[in-house]
Amino acid sequence: MRYISATYIFDGKSFLNDKPILILNDSNCFVEYAKRKTIEKSKIEHYDGIICPGFVNAHCHLELSHMKGLIAEKSGLLNFAKEIITKRRAFQKEEIQSAIVNADKFMWENGTVAVGDISNTVDSFDVKQKSPLFYHTFLELIGFDPEQAEYVFAMGKELQRGASRADLKNSLVPHAPYSVSDALMEKISSDVRDTKFPLSIHNQEHADEDLFFKSKEGIFTELYEFLKINISHFESGKPSSLQSYLPHLSPAKNLLLVHNTFTKKEDIKWAKRFHEELFWCLCPNANLYIENILPNLKNFVEENCKMVIGTDSLASNKSLSMVSEINALLKNFNWVQIADVLKWATYNGAEALGIENKFGTFIKGKNAGINHLSYTPDKLIFEGKLA
Ligand SMILES: [Zn+2]
Repeated sequence: MRYISATYIFDGKSFLNDKPILILNDSNCFVEYAKRKTIEKSKIEHYDGIICPGFVNAHCHLELSHMKGLIAEKSGLLNFAKEIITKRRAFQKEEIQSAIVNADKFMWENGTVAVGDISNTVDSFDVKQKSPLFYHTFLELIGFDPEQAEYVFAMGKELQRGASRADLKNSLVPHAPYSVSDALMEKISSDVRDTKFPLSIHNQEHADEDLFFKSKEGIFTELYEFLKINISHFESGKPSSLQSYLPHLSPAKNLLLVHNTFTKKEDIKWAKRFHEELFWCLCPNANLYIENILPNLKNFVEENCKMVIGTDSLASNKSLSMVSEINALLKNFNWVQIADVLKWATYNGAEALGIENKFGTFIKGKNAGINHLSYTPDKLIFEGKLA
């Protein structure tokens, strides 16, 4: 048995006022809380600072880990998309694999226990299967031409067979509003209808995303030209990208909206009325890397949105550290409470991925990880994993 105490204990939802002792069994599974005076002093392991459950990284692309440092910072989403498309396959298999192995190991050693991870390929399946981390794999589909919907969906099903063979929990998901037709969106939505699995989509990552849905103008027309995609079928005149696609996705299914850099308050209000299970994912370091702009976080907090946190990939971030993301939020939004960001990084992420009975909080009989953090007034420091 282990008896753990700390200056502050955060249980995934809030700081515990009575500062109990956490009792763990010999496999580091949580047994129960005990009152300090009931445990012999010499048996207690005490930590200065905060302890909290392992982190849940709600949005990552492990398979892009080999692209670290390859794309210039602050060069914009259009350039970023072009660079990913043209450069991601220009590597030896071994380089791609060893980068994935290192990224998985880094996340584990830096306190992450579960990940919502995007896959467009099978590249990361083997590492994810063997990893001590839990992965929910979002098999991401891209196809803006509605005539291709059937074909793209069939390719997704093939990828899904590979993920299932590797024993990975998975769901087919749309990449982004501007890269998936309504027809494909509906096929994807109907595919998860009878499962508990969550969906994910990159949402409103560029100012011109709404512009394209409103009036078929802006940088996305350049992207279609570059990719030689025919957009003659597309009809604009929608209030925003979010309001255009959300009706095509099942309203009862957990949906991670990722980035939300340009989401306006009226969209948040509209979406919350329309969809019951929305999780708004912040990837602050990736936003600063690509577009050098952050979402208006106040709008989300004022609307009581469920926030989660992701690192995005090493193509758009210098590290896959959840503490770096937390610190980016604390630095750029000095009114944010540590208790709130810690909840977003633990319990909310677990809830979004549908794994809150295993991760995100201290659960009897489970090892959801225990992280030790120290803090200064404006940032957290990862001190190590206790379990
Ligand atoms: Zn992403």
